[in-house]
Amino acid sequence: YSTAAAIDEPITPPVDINYTKLLINGKFVDAASGKTFHTVDPRNGKVIADVAEGDAEDVNRAVSAARKAFDEGPWPKMTAYERSKILLKFADLIEKHNDAIAALETWDNGKPYEQAANIEIPMVARLFRYYAGWADKIHGLTVPADGPYHVQTLHEPIGVAGQIIPWNFPLLMFSWKVGPALACGNTVVIKTAEQTPLSALYVANLFHEAGLPPGVLNVISGYGPTAGAALCSHMNVDKLAFTGSTSTGKLVLELAAKSNLKPVTLELGGKSPFIICEDADIDLAVETAHFALFFNQGQCCCAGSRTFVHESIYDEFVAKAKARAASRSVGDPFKQGIEQGPQIDPEQFNKILRYIRSGVDSGATLETGGDKLGSKGYYIKPTVFSDVTDDMLIAQDEIFGPVQTILKFKSIEEVIRRANASEYGLAAGVFTQNLDTANTISRALRAGTVWINCYDIFDAGIPFGGYKMSGIGREKGIYSLQNYLQVKAVVTALKNPAW
Ligand code: NAD
Repeated sequence: YSTAAAIDEPITPPVDINYTKLLINGKFVDAASGKTFHTVDPRNGKVIADVAEGDAEDVNRAVSAARKAFDEGPWPKMTAYERSKILLKFADLIEKHNDAIAALETWDNGKPYEQAANIEIPMVARLFRYYAGWADKIHGLTVPADGPYHVQTLHEPIGVAGQIIPWNFPLLMFSWKVGPALACGNTVVIKTAEQTPLSALYVANLFHEAGLPPGVLNVISGYGPTAGAALCSHMNVDKLAFTGSTSTGKLVLELAAKSNLKPVTLELGGKSPFIICEDADIDLAVETAHFALFFNQGQCCCAGSRTFVHESIYDEFVAKAKARAASRSVGDPFKQGIEQGPQIDPEQFNKILRYIRSGVDSGATLETGGDKLGSKGYYIKPTVFSDVTDDMLIAQDEIFGPVQTILKFKSIEEVIRRANASEYGLAAGVFTQNLDTANTISRALRAGTVWINCYDIFDAGIPFGGYKMSGIGREKGIYSLQNYLQVKAVVTALKNPAW
Protein backbone atom coordinates (compact mmCIF):
# COMPACT_ATOMS: atom_id res chain seq x y z
CA TYR A 1 0.00 0.00 0.00
CA SER A 2 1.11 3.59 -0.32
CA THR A 3 2.56 5.00 2.88
CA ALA A 4 0.51 6.59 5.61
CA ALA A 5 2.55 9.79 5.11
CA ALA A 6 0.98 10.24 1.70
CA ILE A 7 -2.40 10.03 3.37
CA ASP A 8 -1.50 12.42 6.19
CA GLU A 9 -0.79 15.32 3.81
CA PRO A 10 -4.06 15.71 1.87
CA ILE A 11 -3.89 17.40 -1.51
CA THR A 12 -5.98 20.59 -1.70
CA PRO A 13 -8.97 19.86 -3.96
CA PRO A 14 -8.94 21.97 -7.14
CA VAL A 15 -12.50 23.31 -6.79
CA ASP A 16 -14.49 25.93 -4.85
CA ILE A 17 -17.71 25.18 -3.02
CA ASN A 18 -20.34 27.58 -4.38
CA TYR A 19 -23.59 25.72 -3.84
CA THR A 20 -24.64 24.67 -0.34
CA LYS A 21 -28.29 25.73 -0.18
CA LEU A 22 -31.43 23.80 -1.11
CA LEU A 23 -32.73 24.15 -4.64
CA ILE A 24 -36.46 24.87 -4.51
CA ASN A 25 -38.48 26.31 -7.38
CA GLY A 26 -35.38 27.36 -9.32
CA LYS A 27 -33.75 29.23 -6.43
CA PHE A 28 -31.04 28.30 -3.95
CA VAL A 29 -32.56 28.90 -0.52
CA ASP A 30 -31.82 28.30 3.16
CA ALA A 31 -33.70 25.59 5.03
CA ALA A 32 -36.94 26.90 6.57
CA SER A 33 -35.50 26.02 10.00
CA GLY A 34 -32.25 27.85 9.19
CA LYS A 35 -30.36 24.67 10.16
CA THR A 36 -27.20 23.44 8.45
CA PHE A 37 -25.11 20.27 8.72
CA HIS A 38 -21.45 19.49 8.10
CA THR A 39 -20.32 17.61 5.06
CA VAL A 40 -17.01 15.99 5.86
CA ASP A 41 -13.80 15.07 4.01
CA PRO A 42 -13.30 11.31 4.48
CA ARG A 43 -9.55 11.74 4.03
CA ASN A 44 -9.22 13.40 7.42
CA GLY A 45 -12.64 13.95 9.01
CA LYS A 46 -12.45 17.73 8.50
CA VAL A 47 -15.53 19.78 7.61
CA ILE A 48 -15.68 20.69 3.91
CA ALA A 49 -18.71 22.95 4.12
CA ASP A 50 -21.93 23.63 6.03
CA VAL A 51 -24.92 22.68 3.93
CA ALA A 52 -28.55 23.73 4.40
CA GLU A 53 -30.38 20.92 6.22
CA GLY A 54 -33.77 20.33 4.63
CA ASP A 55 -36.56 18.71 6.61
CA ALA A 56 -40.32 18.14 6.29
CA GLU A 57 -41.09 21.84 5.79
CA ASP A 58 -38.59 22.14 2.94
CA VAL A 59 -39.88 18.94 1.38
CA ASN A 60 -43.37 20.52 1.47
CA ARG A 61 -42.05 23.61 -0.29
CA ALA A 62 -40.21 21.53 -2.88
CA VAL A 63 -43.18 19.25 -3.56
CA SER A 64 -45.47 22.29 -3.98
CA ALA A 65 -43.05 23.75 -6.53
CA ALA A 66 -42.79 20.42 -8.38
CA ARG A 67 -46.59 19.99 -8.29
CA LYS A 68 -47.13 23.45 -9.75
CA ALA A 69 -44.48 22.88 -12.42
CA PHE A 70 -46.19 19.63 -13.34
CA ASP A 71 -49.82 20.76 -13.20
CA GLU A 72 -49.35 24.16 -14.81
CA GLY A 73 -46.39 23.38 -17.01
CA PRO A 74 -44.58 24.17 -19.09
CA TRP A 75 -42.46 21.04 -18.63
CA PRO A 76 -44.95 18.19 -19.30
CA LYS A 77 -46.69 20.32 -21.91
CA MET A 78 -43.55 21.24 -23.85
CA THR A 79 -42.84 19.22 -26.95
CA ALA A 80 -40.76 16.17 -26.23
CA TYR A 81 -38.19 17.53 -28.65
CA GLU A 82 -37.79 20.69 -26.56
CA ARG A 83 -37.35 18.62 -23.41
CA SER A 84 -34.82 16.47 -25.21
CA LYS A 85 -32.81 19.54 -26.26
CA ILE A 86 -32.59 20.75 -22.64
CA LEU A 87 -31.34 17.33 -21.51
CA LEU A 88 -28.74 17.35 -24.31
CA LYS A 89 -27.58 20.83 -23.37
CA PHE A 90 -27.29 19.72 -19.75
CA ALA A 91 -25.11 16.78 -20.86
CA ASP A 92 -22.85 19.23 -22.74
CA LEU A 93 -22.53 21.35 -19.60
CA ILE A 94 -21.66 18.29 -17.51
CA GLU A 95 -18.83 17.60 -19.94
CA LYS A 96 -17.68 21.21 -19.82
CA HIS A 97 -17.60 21.13 -16.01
CA ASN A 98 -16.36 17.53 -15.78
CA ASP A 99 -13.23 18.20 -13.73
CA ALA A 100 -14.88 20.50 -11.18
CA ILE A 101 -17.73 18.04 -10.64
CA ALA A 102 -15.27 15.13 -10.33
CA ALA A 103 -13.27 17.10 -7.74
CA LEU A 104 -16.41 17.71 -5.66
CA GLU A 105 -17.31 14.04 -5.90
CA THR A 106 -13.85 12.98 -4.71
CA TRP A 107 -13.72 15.52 -1.92
CA ASP A 108 -17.14 14.62 -0.54
CA ASN A 109 -16.95 10.85 -1.11
CA GLY A 110 -13.25 9.87 -1.09
CA LYS A 111 -13.35 8.02 -4.42
CA PRO A 112 -10.26 8.29 -6.66
CA TYR A 113 -10.38 11.48 -8.70
CA GLU A 114 -9.33 9.62 -11.85
CA GLN A 115 -12.29 7.28 -11.43
CA ALA A 116 -14.70 10.19 -11.00
CA ALA A 117 -13.23 12.29 -13.80
CA ASN A 118 -12.62 9.55 -16.39
CA ILE A 119 -15.44 7.11 -15.71
CA GLU A 120 -18.31 8.34 -13.57
CA ILE A 121 -18.93 11.91 -14.68
CA PRO A 122 -18.63 10.95 -18.39
CA MET A 123 -21.19 8.20 -17.65
CA VAL A 124 -23.52 10.84 -16.21
CA ALA A 125 -23.35 12.87 -19.44
CA ARG A 126 -23.83 9.69 -21.49
CA LEU A 127 -26.88 8.70 -19.47
CA PHE A 128 -28.58 12.07 -19.92
CA ARG A 129 -27.92 11.87 -23.67
CA TYR A 130 -29.40 8.38 -23.72
CA TYR A 131 -32.62 9.57 -22.06
CA ALA A 132 -32.71 12.75 -24.15
CA GLY A 133 -32.88 10.34 -27.08
CA TRP A 134 -35.91 8.62 -25.57
CA ALA A 135 -37.89 11.79 -24.81
CA ASP A 136 -39.50 12.02 -28.27
CA LYS A 137 -39.82 8.26 -28.75
CA ILE A 138 -42.23 7.58 -25.90
CA HIS A 139 -45.65 6.74 -27.28
CA GLY A 140 -48.54 4.38 -26.86
CA LEU A 141 -50.15 1.74 -29.02
CA THR A 142 -53.25 1.24 -31.10
CA VAL A 143 -55.03 -1.82 -29.76
CA PRO A 144 -57.47 -4.02 -31.74
CA ALA A 145 -60.83 -4.36 -29.94
CA ASP A 146 -63.65 -6.92 -30.10
CA GLY A 147 -66.22 -4.37 -31.20
CA PRO A 148 -66.81 -1.02 -32.89
CA TYR A 149 -64.14 0.85 -30.93
CA HIS A 150 -60.99 2.72 -31.68
CA VAL A 151 -58.61 1.91 -28.79
CA GLN A 152 -55.37 3.64 -28.11
CA THR A 153 -53.01 3.90 -25.15
CA LEU A 154 -51.38 7.15 -24.08
CA HIS A 155 -48.11 6.97 -22.17
CA GLU A 156 -48.22 9.94 -19.83
CA PRO A 157 -45.80 11.20 -17.18
CA ILE A 158 -46.76 10.02 -13.70
CA GLY A 159 -46.41 13.43 -12.01
CA VAL A 160 -44.14 14.46 -9.15
CA ALA A 161 -41.33 11.94 -8.65
CA GLY A 162 -39.71 11.71 -5.19
CA GLN A 163 -36.21 10.28 -5.36
CA ILE A 164 -33.75 9.30 -2.62
CA ILE A 165 -30.15 8.45 -3.40
CA PRO A 166 -27.13 7.08 -1.53
CA TRP A 167 -23.56 8.32 -1.09
CA ASN A 168 -21.54 5.68 -2.95
CA PHE A 169 -22.07 7.07 -6.48
CA PRO A 170 -23.67 10.43 -5.73
CA LEU A 171 -23.98 11.89 -9.22
CA LEU A 172 -24.34 8.62 -11.09
CA MET A 173 -27.32 7.76 -8.88
CA PHE A 174 -28.66 11.26 -9.49
CA SER A 175 -28.50 10.59 -13.24
CA TRP A 176 -30.18 7.17 -13.07
CA LYS A 177 -33.07 8.78 -11.21
CA VAL A 178 -33.41 12.21 -12.78
CA GLY A 179 -32.64 11.28 -16.42
CA PRO A 180 -35.63 9.01 -17.12
CA ALA A 181 -37.99 11.03 -14.90
CA LEU A 182 -37.39 14.25 -16.81
CA ALA A 183 -37.31 12.58 -20.22
CA CYS A 184 -40.83 11.28 -19.57
CA GLY A 185 -42.06 14.78 -18.61
CA ASN A 186 -42.23 14.42 -14.82
CA THR A 187 -41.09 16.90 -12.22
CA VAL A 188 -38.69 15.84 -9.46
CA VAL A 189 -37.85 16.32 -5.80
CA ILE A 190 -34.60 14.51 -5.07
CA LYS A 191 -33.07 14.03 -1.64
CA THR A 192 -29.34 13.43 -1.76
CA ALA A 193 -27.39 11.45 0.84
CA GLU A 194 -26.32 13.46 3.89
CA GLN A 195 -22.70 12.34 3.37
CA THR A 196 -22.48 13.65 -0.22
CA PRO A 197 -24.68 16.67 -0.98
CA LEU A 198 -22.27 18.78 -3.04
CA SER A 199 -22.19 17.46 -6.62
CA ALA A 200 -25.97 17.40 -7.11
CA LEU A 201 -26.26 21.05 -6.02
CA TYR A 202 -23.51 22.00 -8.47
CA VAL A 203 -25.18 20.31 -11.43
CA ALA A 204 -28.64 21.57 -10.44
CA ASN A 205 -27.30 25.00 -11.30
CA LEU A 206 -26.15 23.70 -14.70
CA PHE A 207 -29.66 22.40 -15.33
CA HIS A 208 -31.01 25.92 -15.10
CA GLU A 209 -28.27 27.17 -17.40
CA ALA A 210 -29.50 24.50 -19.84
CA GLY A 211 -32.99 26.01 -19.71
CA LEU A 212 -34.86 23.77 -17.28
CA PRO A 213 -37.90 25.70 -16.02
CA PRO A 214 -38.09 26.51 -12.26
CA GLY A 215 -39.68 23.84 -10.07
CA VAL A 216 -39.02 20.96 -12.49
CA LEU A 217 -36.03 19.77 -10.46
CA ASN A 218 -35.77 20.44 -6.74
CA VAL A 219 -32.80 19.26 -4.68
CA ILE A 220 -33.07 18.72 -0.93
CA SER A 221 -29.98 18.00 1.16
CA GLY A 222 -30.67 16.48 4.56
CA TYR A 223 -31.16 13.34 6.61
CA GLY A 224 -33.21 10.23 5.95
CA PRO A 225 -35.55 10.06 8.94
CA THR A 226 -36.52 13.74 8.49
CA ALA A 227 -36.35 14.91 4.86
CA GLY A 228 -36.31 11.40 3.34
CA ALA A 229 -39.26 10.10 5.34
CA ALA A 230 -41.26 13.29 4.65
CA LEU A 231 -40.81 12.73 0.91
CA CYS A 232 -41.90 9.08 1.20
CA SER A 233 -45.04 10.01 3.18
CA HIS A 234 -46.02 13.01 1.10
CA MET A 235 -49.56 12.87 -0.31
CA ASN A 236 -48.61 14.96 -3.32
CA VAL A 237 -45.71 12.79 -4.47
CA ASP A 238 -46.87 10.41 -7.21
CA LYS A 239 -43.92 8.03 -7.39
CA LEU A 240 -40.87 7.09 -5.32
CA ALA A 241 -37.49 5.78 -6.43
CA PHE A 242 -34.97 4.77 -3.77
CA THR A 243 -31.43 3.41 -3.74
CA GLY A 244 -29.79 2.38 -0.47
CA SER A 245 -29.90 -0.33 2.15
CA THR A 246 -32.52 -3.07 2.23
CA SER A 247 -33.66 -2.06 5.72
CA THR A 248 -34.30 1.55 4.66
CA GLY A 249 -35.96 0.28 1.47
CA LYS A 250 -38.52 -1.56 3.60
CA LEU A 251 -39.27 1.67 5.49
CA VAL A 252 -39.68 3.56 2.22
CA LEU A 253 -42.19 0.99 0.97
CA GLU A 254 -44.08 1.12 4.25
CA LEU A 255 -44.32 4.92 4.24
CA ALA A 256 -45.52 4.87 0.62
CA ALA A 257 -48.20 2.31 1.50
CA LYS A 258 -49.34 4.20 4.59
CA SER A 259 -49.71 7.49 2.72
CA ASN A 260 -51.06 7.54 -0.83
CA LEU A 261 -49.93 4.14 -2.21
CA LYS A 262 -47.47 5.77 -4.56
CA PRO A 263 -45.62 3.18 -6.65
CA VAL A 264 -42.05 2.51 -5.49
CA THR A 265 -38.93 1.27 -7.22
CA LEU A 266 -36.14 0.07 -4.96
CA GLU A 267 -32.49 -0.61 -5.69
CA LEU A 268 -31.07 -2.22 -2.55
CA GLY A 269 -28.21 -4.27 -1.23
CA GLY A 270 -26.50 -7.39 -2.49
CA LYS A 271 -24.09 -10.20 -1.77
CA SER A 272 -23.28 -11.02 -5.34
CA PRO A 273 -21.54 -14.29 -6.26
CA PHE A 274 -18.54 -14.21 -8.57
CA ILE A 275 -18.04 -17.76 -9.86
CA ILE A 276 -14.71 -18.88 -11.33
CA CYS A 277 -14.89 -22.24 -13.07
CA GLU A 278 -11.95 -24.58 -13.56
CA ASP A 279 -11.53 -23.66 -17.24
CA ALA A 280 -11.43 -19.88 -16.62
CA ASP A 281 -8.62 -17.64 -17.79
CA ILE A 282 -7.23 -17.43 -14.28
CA ASP A 283 -5.26 -14.18 -14.54
CA LEU A 284 -8.21 -12.37 -16.08
CA ALA A 285 -10.48 -13.86 -13.41
CA VAL A 286 -8.16 -12.74 -10.59
CA GLU A 287 -8.01 -9.19 -11.95
CA THR A 288 -11.74 -8.97 -12.64
CA ALA A 289 -12.70 -10.48 -9.27
CA HIS A 290 -10.39 -7.94 -7.62
CA PHE A 291 -12.05 -5.11 -9.54
CA ALA A 292 -15.53 -6.51 -8.86
CA LEU A 293 -14.95 -6.33 -5.12
CA PHE A 294 -12.51 -3.46 -4.51
CA PHE A 295 -13.85 -0.92 -7.01
CA ASN A 296 -15.08 2.24 -5.24
CA GLN A 297 -13.52 1.10 -1.93
CA GLY A 298 -15.82 -1.92 -2.01
CA GLN A 299 -18.81 0.38 -1.65
CA CYS A 300 -20.91 -1.01 -4.49
CA CYS A 301 -24.33 -2.56 -4.10
CA CYS A 302 -23.36 -5.10 -6.78
CA ALA A 303 -19.84 -5.81 -5.46
CA GLY A 304 -18.76 -9.36 -6.31
CA SER A 305 -18.53 -10.12 -2.61
CA ARG A 306 -18.66 -13.91 -2.61
CA THR A 307 -15.78 -15.14 -4.77
CA PHE A 308 -16.47 -18.83 -5.49
CA VAL A 309 -13.42 -20.62 -6.95
CA HIS A 310 -13.28 -24.17 -8.29
CA GLU A 311 -11.20 -26.43 -6.04
CA SER A 312 -8.77 -27.33 -8.85
CA ILE A 313 -7.54 -23.74 -9.18
CA TYR A 314 -8.30 -22.52 -5.65
CA ASP A 315 -4.76 -22.31 -4.25
CA GLU A 316 -3.35 -20.59 -7.31
CA PHE A 317 -6.27 -18.15 -7.36
CA VAL A 318 -5.93 -17.29 -3.65
CA ALA A 319 -2.19 -16.65 -4.00
CA LYS A 320 -2.73 -14.35 -6.98
CA ALA A 321 -5.73 -12.57 -5.43
CA LYS A 322 -3.68 -11.94 -2.28
CA ALA A 323 -0.76 -10.54 -4.29
CA ARG A 324 -3.08 -8.30 -6.30
CA ALA A 325 -4.78 -6.91 -3.19
CA ALA A 326 -1.43 -6.35 -1.47
CA SER A 327 -0.24 -4.29 -4.45
CA ARG A 328 -3.37 -2.12 -4.60
CA SER A 329 -2.43 1.54 -4.32
CA VAL A 330 -4.29 3.14 -1.44
CA GLY A 331 -3.94 6.79 -0.58
CA ASP A 332 -5.17 10.34 -1.10
CA PRO A 333 -7.78 9.95 -3.86
CA PHE A 334 -6.62 13.18 -5.50
CA LYS A 335 -3.17 11.63 -6.11
CA GLN A 336 -2.46 10.19 -9.55
CA GLY A 337 -2.47 6.42 -9.84
CA ILE A 338 -4.43 5.86 -6.62
CA GLU A 339 -6.86 2.95 -6.85
CA GLN A 340 -8.44 3.21 -3.42
CA GLY A 341 -9.30 6.16 -1.19
CA PRO A 342 -10.91 6.26 2.25
CA GLN A 343 -14.30 4.76 3.19
CA ILE A 344 -17.15 7.24 3.34
CA ASP A 345 -17.50 7.85 7.10
CA PRO A 346 -16.68 6.54 10.61
CA GLU A 347 -19.85 4.40 10.73
CA GLN A 348 -18.94 2.46 7.60
CA PHE A 349 -15.24 2.36 8.59
CA ASN A 350 -16.01 0.85 12.00
CA LYS A 351 -18.60 -1.53 10.58
CA ILE A 352 -16.08 -2.90 8.08
CA LEU A 353 -13.43 -3.34 10.77
CA ARG A 354 -16.02 -5.25 12.85
CA TYR A 355 -16.68 -7.57 9.90
CA ILE A 356 -12.94 -8.15 9.49
CA ARG A 357 -12.71 -9.16 13.17
CA SER A 358 -15.72 -11.43 12.72
CA GLY A 359 -14.00 -13.10 9.75
CA VAL A 360 -10.91 -13.83 11.85
CA ASP A 361 -12.98 -15.00 14.82
CA SER A 362 -15.05 -17.35 12.69
CA GLY A 363 -11.95 -19.13 11.41
CA ALA A 364 -11.43 -17.72 7.91
CA THR A 365 -7.78 -17.30 6.86
CA LEU A 366 -6.71 -13.65 6.71
CA GLU A 367 -4.42 -13.59 3.66
CA THR A 368 -3.65 -9.87 3.59
CA GLY A 369 -4.84 -6.56 5.04
CA GLY A 370 -7.18 -6.79 8.00
CA ASP A 371 -6.73 -3.36 9.55
CA LYS A 372 -7.07 0.37 9.08
CA LEU A 373 -4.36 2.26 7.20
CA GLY A 374 -2.74 5.44 8.50
CA SER A 375 -3.79 7.56 11.44
CA LYS A 376 -6.20 10.01 9.80
CA GLY A 377 -9.40 9.52 7.86
CA TYR A 378 -11.16 6.28 7.08
CA TYR A 379 -8.64 4.23 5.09
CA ILE A 380 -8.74 0.42 5.26
CA LYS A 381 -6.13 -2.00 3.93
CA PRO A 382 -7.35 -4.14 1.03
CA THR A 383 -8.28 -7.35 2.80
CA VAL A 384 -8.55 -10.91 1.49
CA PHE A 385 -9.99 -13.89 3.37
CA SER A 386 -9.67 -17.46 2.11
CA ASP A 387 -11.20 -20.65 3.55
CA VAL A 388 -14.49 -18.81 3.89
CA THR A 389 -17.58 -20.97 4.41
CA ASP A 390 -21.21 -20.15 3.69
CA ASP A 391 -22.21 -20.01 7.36
CA MET A 392 -19.79 -17.18 8.22
CA LEU A 393 -21.19 -13.67 8.66
CA ILE A 394 -18.63 -12.31 6.15
CA ALA A 395 -20.13 -14.65 3.54
CA GLN A 396 -23.71 -13.55 4.26
CA ASP A 397 -23.82 -9.84 5.13
CA GLU A 398 -23.17 -6.91 2.84
CA ILE A 399 -19.82 -5.62 4.17
CA PHE A 400 -19.67 -2.65 1.78
CA GLY A 401 -15.91 -2.37 2.09
CA PRO A 402 -12.58 -3.61 0.67
CA VAL A 403 -12.90 -7.16 1.98
CA GLN A 404 -12.75 -10.07 -0.47
CA THR A 405 -14.08 -13.43 0.73
CA ILE A 406 -12.96 -16.48 -1.26
CA LEU A 407 -14.95 -19.72 -1.07
CA LYS A 408 -14.22 -23.12 -2.64
CA PHE A 409 -16.61 -25.21 -4.76
CA LYS A 410 -16.52 -28.63 -6.44
CA SER A 411 -19.36 -28.79 -8.98
CA ILE A 412 -21.55 -26.50 -11.07
CA GLU A 413 -24.75 -27.78 -9.41
CA GLU A 414 -23.30 -27.10 -5.99
CA VAL A 415 -22.13 -23.57 -6.78
CA ILE A 416 -25.47 -22.63 -8.32
CA ARG A 417 -27.28 -23.78 -5.19
CA ARG A 418 -24.87 -21.95 -2.89
CA ALA A 419 -24.81 -18.78 -5.01
CA ASN A 420 -28.61 -18.63 -4.86
CA ALA A 421 -28.72 -19.30 -1.10
CA SER A 422 -28.85 -15.60 -0.24
CA GLU A 423 -31.65 -13.21 0.58
CA TYR A 424 -30.16 -10.95 -2.09
CA GLY A 425 -30.20 -11.30 -5.88
CA LEU A 426 -28.63 -8.22 -7.40
CA ALA A 427 -25.80 -9.36 -9.67
CA ALA A 428 -23.38 -12.18 -10.42
CA GLY A 429 -20.20 -12.88 -12.35
CA VAL A 430 -19.27 -16.10 -14.13
CA PHE A 431 -15.81 -16.92 -15.47
CA THR A 432 -15.59 -19.85 -17.87
CA GLN A 433 -14.56 -20.51 -21.46
CA ASN A 434 -17.36 -23.01 -21.96
CA LEU A 435 -20.50 -21.57 -23.54
CA ASP A 436 -22.72 -24.26 -22.11
CA THR A 437 -21.43 -23.68 -18.58
CA ALA A 438 -21.91 -19.92 -19.01
CA ASN A 439 -25.47 -20.37 -20.24
CA THR A 440 -26.36 -22.98 -17.61
CA ILE A 441 -25.12 -20.86 -14.71
CA SER A 442 -26.48 -17.54 -15.97
CA ARG A 443 -29.96 -19.01 -16.50
CA ALA A 444 -29.96 -20.68 -13.08
CA LEU A 445 -28.85 -17.67 -11.03
CA ARG A 446 -31.57 -15.60 -9.40
CA ALA A 447 -29.94 -12.22 -10.04
CA GLY A 448 -30.85 -9.09 -11.96
CA THR A 449 -27.55 -8.98 -13.87
CA VAL A 450 -25.12 -11.75 -14.83
CA TRP A 451 -21.77 -10.66 -16.22
CA ILE A 452 -19.89 -13.40 -18.09
CA ASN A 453 -16.11 -13.01 -18.33
CA CYS A 454 -16.50 -9.36 -17.31
CA TYR A 455 -17.98 -7.35 -14.43
CA ASP A 456 -19.53 -3.95 -13.68
CA ILE A 457 -20.40 -3.09 -17.28
CA PHE A 458 -22.93 -0.29 -16.89
CA ASP A 459 -23.94 1.15 -20.26
CA ALA A 460 -26.95 3.47 -20.12
CA GLY A 461 -29.10 0.99 -22.05
CA ILE A 462 -28.45 -2.04 -19.81
CA PRO A 463 -31.18 -2.47 -17.18
CA PHE A 464 -30.10 -2.82 -13.56
CA GLY A 465 -32.01 -4.01 -10.51
CA GLY A 466 -32.52 -6.89 -8.15
CA TYR A 467 -34.30 -10.15 -7.54
CA LYS A 468 -35.46 -10.99 -4.02
CA MET A 469 -34.47 -8.49 -1.30
CA SER A 470 -32.18 -6.59 -3.68
CA GLY A 471 -35.09 -4.53 -4.88
CA ILE A 472 -38.13 -3.91 -7.00
CA GLY A 473 -38.01 -2.77 -10.62
CA ARG A 474 -35.23 -1.91 -13.02
CA GLU A 475 -33.34 1.29 -13.70
CA LYS A 476 -31.52 2.39 -16.87
CA GLY A 477 -32.40 1.40 -20.39
CA ILE A 478 -35.89 1.23 -21.80
CA TYR A 479 -37.04 -0.44 -18.56
CA SER A 480 -36.66 2.72 -16.48
CA LEU A 481 -39.16 4.61 -18.62
CA GLN A 482 -42.07 2.53 -17.37
CA ASN A 483 -41.23 3.58 -13.79
CA TYR A 484 -42.08 7.14 -14.73
CA LEU A 485 -45.11 6.66 -16.99
CA GLN A 486 -48.80 6.05 -16.54
CA VAL A 487 -50.68 4.16 -19.24
CA LYS A 488 -54.06 5.56 -20.15
CA ALA A 489 -56.42 3.52 -22.34
CA VAL A 490 -58.65 5.70 -24.52
CA VAL A 491 -61.62 3.87 -26.04
CA THR A 492 -63.70 5.69 -28.65
CA ALA A 493 -66.91 4.30 -30.08
CA LEU A 494 -66.88 4.20 -33.87
CA LYS A 495 -69.85 5.50 -35.81
CA ASN A 496 -68.88 3.59 -38.88
CA PRO A 497 -67.25 0.33 -37.81
CA ALA A 498 -66.69 -0.70 -41.42
CA TRP A 499 -63.72 1.65 -41.49
P1 NAD B 1 -29.35 4.17 3.84
O1 NAD B 1 -30.19 3.22 3.12
O2 NAD B 1 -29.73 4.45 5.26
O3 NAD B 1 -29.29 5.57 3.07
C1 NAD B 1 -29.59 5.74 1.71
C2 NAD B 1 -30.47 6.97 1.54
O4 NAD B 1 -31.68 6.78 2.25
C3 NAD B 1 -29.85 8.26 2.09
O5 NAD B 1 -30.21 9.34 1.26
C4 NAD B 1 -30.53 8.40 3.43
O6 NAD B 1 -30.58 9.72 3.91
C5 NAD B 1 -31.92 7.88 3.11
N1 NAD B 1 -32.68 7.44 4.28
C6 NAD B 1 -32.20 6.92 5.44
N2 NAD B 1 -33.21 6.65 6.29
C7 NAD B 1 -34.36 7.00 5.66
C8 NAD B 1 -35.74 6.97 6.03
N3 NAD B 1 -36.14 6.55 7.23
N4 NAD B 1 -36.65 7.40 5.14
C9 NAD B 1 -36.26 7.83 3.92
N5 NAD B 1 -34.98 7.90 3.52
C10 NAD B 1 -34.02 7.49 4.39
O7 NAD B 1 -27.86 3.66 3.77
P2 NAD B 1 -26.61 4.10 4.69
O8 NAD B 1 -26.99 4.18 6.13
O9 NAD B 1 -25.99 5.28 4.08
O10 NAD B 1 -25.69 2.84 4.47
C11 NAD B 1 -25.96 1.65 5.19
C12 NAD B 1 -25.76 0.44 4.34
O11 NAD B 1 -26.60 0.51 3.19
C13 NAD B 1 -24.38 0.28 3.74
O12 NAD B 1 -23.50 -0.31 4.60
C14 NAD B 1 -24.67 -0.61 2.58
O13 NAD B 1 -24.75 -1.94 2.99
C15 NAD B 1 -26.03 -0.14 2.12
N6 NAD B 1 -25.96 0.80 0.99
C16 NAD B 1 -26.34 0.33 -0.21
C17 NAD B 1 -26.29 1.17 -1.32
C18 NAD B 1 -26.70 0.71 -2.67
O14 NAD B 1 -26.26 1.27 -3.65
N7 NAD B 1 -27.57 -0.27 -2.77
C19 NAD B 1 -25.84 2.46 -1.18
C20 NAD B 1 -25.48 2.93 0.08
C21 NAD B 1 -25.55 2.07 1.15
